[in-house]
Amino acid sequence: MYDILKDLLNLAKESGKQELVDLANEIQADLFNMREENQNLKEENRKLQTKLLDDKKLKNIEKDLIPHIQAFYTRKSDKIERLYCARCWDKENNLIQLQGHPNWDQYGCKDVYCPECKSRLFIYKKYIDEDKKF
Ligand SMILES: [Zn+2]
Repeated sequence: MYDILKDLLNLAKESGKQELVDLANEIQADLFNMREENQNLKEENRKLQTKLLDDKKLKNIEKDLIPHIQAFYTRKSDKIERLYCARCWDKENNLIQLQGHPNWDQYGCKDVYCPECKSRLFIYKKYIDEDKKF
């Protein structure tokens, strides 16, 4: 396309007709604008497709989450029970596993924290059992 345009411009110049040269220049300018617009649209399209994929991924995670009274989530699909920070998910859709000692202490309590937002939670087993009633 650009070679054709170059030929056209040369022919117009050779013809000595300024009107033809102006027209060829106009076509060239339009083509450059269209090329730029096309690149912008491609970029916008790429971003939208990425966003669409991310939204779909988030929706799937959201469907998988089980909320608990004590401000954490578990996931239906987890084979072993993991706890996730409710603050990080609710605020930023960031699924962060709470860390801490995995076992219940003598009071049926787990002391866990979020490595991302540094929230600390004391989770009581009795409340998790209560969650299951809802
Ligand atoms: Zn967090």
